[in-house]
Amino acid sequence: MRSRAALFLLVACWTNLPGQFASAPPEWNRPVEPFRVVGNVYYVGASDVSAFLITTPQGHILVDTGFTETVPLIVSGVQKLGFRMEDIRILLATHAHYDHAGGVAEVKARTKARFLVNPAEVEPFSRGGKGDFAFGDTYAFPPSKPDGVLRDGGEVRVGGVVVTAHFTPGHTKGCTSYTTTVREGRHSYRVAMVSSVTAPGYQLVNNLKYPEIVEDFQATFAKLRALPCDIFLAGHSWEFGLPEKLKALRNGASGNPFVDSEGYRRWVEKSEAAFRKQLEDQRGKPARNP
Ligand SMILES: [Zn+2]
Repeated sequence: MRSRAALFLLVACWTNLPGQFASAPPEWNRPVEPFRVVGNVYYVGASDVSAFLITTPQGHILVDTGFTETVPLIVSGVQKLGFRMEDIRILLATHAHYDHAGGVAEVKARTKARFLVNPAEVEPFSRGGKGDFAFGDTYAFPPSKPDGVLRDGGEVRVGGVVVTAHFTPGHTKGCTSYTTTVREGRHSYRVAMVSSVTAPGYQLVNNLKYPEIVEDFQATFAKLRALPCDIFLAGHSWEFGLPEKLKALRNGASGNPFVDSEGYRRWVEKSEAAFRKQLEDQRGKPARNP
């Protein structure tokens, strides 16, 4: 009996063990006053990890949830903007890494939203990021079983709003970027919310865990180059210059500082150049696979 009690305690402690899931670096999860980016698209994320709320009269769409620790910021942001978490009907994610999807399970529990993912990301989300082809179990987050799958070029429709999924694999096998068109006054803006395209420490050559990684990245960059984009948004705030643009917005800039198709093009070019350099550096060197 004593040993059974001890075993129970051990299991109970293990399942609640701090560190079972990777924690957010505090400097990446500083609060940001929520704001309207354009039309019905709002920023409800943290300082370094994005979360975008797209509102409609028939319910809302949330793209990304940041870290597990970002969820309270999202909840307070949604409320401050005058919306309700329980009206979020669709939950989307750019990819199954802890800094973009750490809060998925919590947001799902609070909203009952349908969580739709790239088919290649079903397993990674269900495993809570464990077994990542590059990071293994290091950046685990609370697992969440998706409610359905997206298709490349497929549309998600809520209350007259259409969000299109664009599969942009490489950073993960199921990375997905999203676009929607927003009308504001007499203007129409094509909004792009793009997933990460970096290869941090990745083995690009002869990667047995992701043999098609180079082809995937190349196809992704070709796709992103062709993607129409007026309003450039991404998974990390520094990628689309959130601090500078938000400052300009709050200082009463004449136009919307987030209208930045040039900044988007530069980001795609810079990202692709970094990828090519990494690939060239690795080519000709012996593979690290056992
Ligand atoms: Zn990532």
